[in-house]
Amino acid sequence: GWRSRAAFKLIELDEKFKFLRPGLKVVDLGAAPGGWSQVAVFRKATKVVGIDLLAVDPIPGAEIIQGDFTDPENMDILINKLGGKADLVMSDMAPNTTGHAATDHIRIIDLTKDALIFALDILNLQGIFIAKVFQGGSEKEMLDTLKKSFKVVKHAKPPASRKESKELYVIATGFKGKPE
Ligand code: SAM
Repeated sequence: GWRSRAAFKLIELDEKFKFLRPGLKVVDLGAAPGGWSQVAVFRKATKVVGIDLLAVDPIPGAEIIQGDFTDPENMDILINKLGGKADLVMSDMAPNTTGHAATDHIRIIDLTKDALIFALDILNLQGIFIAKVFQGGSEKEMLDTLKKSFKVVKHAKPPASRKESKELYVIATGFKGKPE
């Protein structure tokens, strides 16, 4: 079985946008407890590397390291383990909430921005970037970068995402290369 409710969110996003083709090299950011990586392996990704602050029980076919994604050393480790470029960078990272809405908002935007900067460096052309954002939203600068760098940029809230939660996902497909 899937290890997380989040697994269903990825499956539902894929039902809508059809990005989980076989043979992908995938990076899973904020991977614990491992649902998204499980889904990627099940969908015949050829390589799945991930990271989380928390330890993840082994998933055959995936390699998840424990650490802080925002630490540049860990970004290098991920790149080395990937051994080449990625076709899909997906981030379900969410910082611990403080209860202070504005602070929480800035934190999630910062994490997602880091994930995007990383994706711009390691994605293959035509690659895909998926990330959790919050309503209120993908702030303008990030959305501008996304629109410059990808052919299609969409937002979606999968049915498995609780209605009362403000989370939604950005799905950017057709990576055009790093903007100048
Ligand atoms: N997609 C996962 C699944 O299907 O099992 C669920 C991910 S959970 C909603 C969000 C995760 O992001 C948490 O496990 C948290 O530890 C992780 N996270 C938050 N900040 C992080 C960071 N700076 N580096 C690595 N992981 C982080």
